[in-house]
Amino acid sequence: MEKTNDPGLISGTFYITNHVRQKLISHCKRELPYEACGLLSGGNGIAETIWPMENVNRSSFSFSMDLDQIRHVFELIDRRNEDFIGIYHSHPTDSAYPSEGDITLNNYPEVGHLIISFANSTPELKCFQLTGKKVFPIQLKFVN
Ligand SMILES: [Zn+2]
Repeated sequence: MEKTNDPGLISGTFYITNHVRQKLISHCKRELPYEACGLLSGGNGIAETIWPMENVNRSSFSFSMDLDQIRHVFELIDRRNEDFIGIYHSHPTDSAYPSEGDITLNNYPEVGHLIISFANSTPELKCFQLTGKKVFPIQLKFVN
């Protein structure tokens, strides 16, 4: 596998392990009909660790995370010598594309934003970079 030292976004690709993908899908399924959210960390630009977070909005149409919980997870990520490289959340009924709120309320333009949609019977997982008001699709690659 090619080695990357950036979060994958500069090369237009976001790498995630199959293990993390499975955990992400099951976390988001478990929270239905509400949106689920969480953070992703790893080394060498590969998302290897998943941090399920609480959606404090407890909503089917939006999510937000508690700042203290985020700070705590950032500490744990540091302790593992990993980098914070991604955020994920689910769309229980909407497509796998950033909503108006996802774009305007985004605080992390430098990381990958994964969105999983349950609008159809097969969950659809997509990745984007959200910079300013712009949405850039990022290719997702799964590794073991
Ligand atoms: Zn959203």
